[in-house]
Amino acid sequence: MEKTKKFLLPENELPTKWYNIVADLVNKPMPMLHPGTKQPIKEEDLYPLFAKKLAHQELNQTDPWIDIPEEVREQYKIYRPTPLVRAYSLEKALDTPAHIYFKNESVSPVGSHKLNSALAQAYYCKEEGTTNITTETGAGQWGTALSFAAKVFGLELAVYMVKISYEQKPYRRSLMQTWGAQVIPSPSMSTKAGRQILTDHPNYQGSLGTAISEAIELAMQTPNCKYTLGSVLNHVSLHQTVIGLEAEKQMEMAGEYPDIVIGCFGGGSNFSGISFPFMRHSIKDGKKTRFIAAEPSSCPKLTRGKFEYDFGDEAGYTPLLPMFTLGHNFSPAHIHAGGLRYHGAGTIVSQLMKDGLMEAVDIKQLDSFKAGVLFAQTEGIVPAPESAHAIAAAIDEALKCKEEGITKTILFNLSGHGLVDMSAYDQYLAGDLINYSLSDEEIAINTDKLEHLV
Ligand SMILES: *Cc1c(COP(=O)(O)O)cnc(C)c1O
Repeated sequence: MEKTKKFLLPENELPTKWYNIVADLVNKPMPMLHPGTKQPIKEEDLYPLFAKKLAHQELNQTDPWIDIPEEVREQYKIYRPTPLVRAYSLEKALDTPAHIYFKNESVSPVGSHKLNSALAQAYYCKEEGTTNITTETGAGQWGTALSFAAKVFGLELAVYMVKISYEQKPYRRSLMQTWGAQVIPSPSMSTKAGRQILTDHPNYQGSLGTAISEAIELAMQTPNCKYTLGSVLNHVSLHQTVIGLEAEKQMEMAGEYPDIVIGCFGGGSNFSGISFPFMRHSIKDGKKTRFIAAEPSSCPKLTRGKFEYDFGDEAGYTPLLPMFTLGHNFSPAHIHAGGLRYHGAGTIVSQLMKDGLMEAVDIKQLDSFKAGVLFAQTEGIVPAPESAHAIAAAIDEALKCKEEGITKTILFNLSGHGLVDMSAYDQYLAGDLINYSLSDEEIAINTDKLEHLV
C-alpha cells in the first residue's frame, strides 16, 4: 500500500479561533507584579506598552477560545495551514519502530513560526491607531517576521538586534531591511539602557534581555508607538496555538494521536503552540501524552533554573513574571541557536512545569547540530539551529523506543529552517563548534540575587 507522507488541510480548515489554555487550568499561573508596588498588574497597566486587545489577551483567564481576526486569517492563508509530515526517512535511518511526525512551520515566508504572532500583534496595533512599533530580535527570526507583518499592516518598525547576531547573521538584517524595518545593533548608544551596559562592559556582545530593555525604552519615549515581543508572554503563546490546532486535525487524518509532543524552547512560544491544543485533551479527557521542551544545555532555565519572580529584560523595565529563570542578568554562551538564548520561561509554561504537566530536557550544542545534519540528510530540510534541539530530543525518544522495542507516536514542531544560518553549519562541519558547560555556582550567581517573592 502506498504510504501517505504529508497531511495537508484545505484552506477553509484554517482555525478560526486560538486556544487559551489558561481558561482550562485548575492552577492558574501566578499574577504578574508591578515592579514598583509588587501588586498584581491590571490590564490598564499594560496599555502604555502593548495594544489594548493584546493586554486583554495577556490577562485573560476565562475564555478558552479567542476569535482570530479575519484580516489576520487572510494573511495566514499565504502559508497556512502548514503541512504535517511523517518522517519516514528519519525513522529508517534511526531503525526505530517509533512513528515520527513533524509540523513544518519552516514554510512560512519568513522561515519560522514567528509570523503567526507577528501578524496578530501588528494587526491589533494598527487597529487601535498605532503608527510605530519597536521590538528586539536575537537570532533575527522575530525581527524578520515582524518586519513583514509591519509592512503588511502599514506600520513603521525599529528592531534592536542582539549585536552578536547582527554580526553573525547579516542576511537576517538584510531581510528585515528588505521588508522596510530599521535595524539597530544592541547594545546601542541610542537608549539609556544601552549606554549603561556599554559603559559597564564596552565589549558586550548583547543579549535578548538588553535588546528588550532598549526596545521598551524607545516605545515609551515615542508618541503613538507600541512595543511587541516575540515570545514568553501569554498572548504570544495564544497566537501560536494555531500550530497545534492544525496538527490535531492532521494527526487525526493520519489516524494517530501523539504519545510524545516536543518543541524546542526559547521563551516557550513554539512549544506552547504545538503542545497546548493537545494538552487540553490531557487536562479534560485524561489523555496521557508527554510534553517535552528541548532547551540548550548552555541556557537551561527549565532544567536547572529557579522558579521565582523575575524581570523579562536585563534593565528591569518589564513587570515581574513568575517563571523558571536563570536570573535576568544571566549572560548565555554564544551558541548559534540565538533564539534559545533567553534567561526565562513564559509564566504559563512555568506553571505547567511546576504542576508536572510537562517535562524538559537539555541538549548540547554539538548534539543539536548532529541531529540537524541527520534531519537534513534524511528529510531534506536544513533545520534552524533552534529547531535542531527539538529534533535531537525526538531522536533520543525514538532511540529509546528502539531499545525497548516499542512503538510510540512522536510529534515535534519544526519551528524554522536554517537557510539563513549556514555560517553556523559551516562552523559545525569544520569542527569549530564546542559544547558549553555551566556549573551550579555559575547559575547560582544570578539566581541567588533574585528577590524571593513566590
Ligand atoms: C525564536 C525561535 C525559537 C525560540 O522561541 P520560542 O518562543 O521558544 O518558540 C525557536 N525556533 C525558531 C526557528 C525561532 O525563530
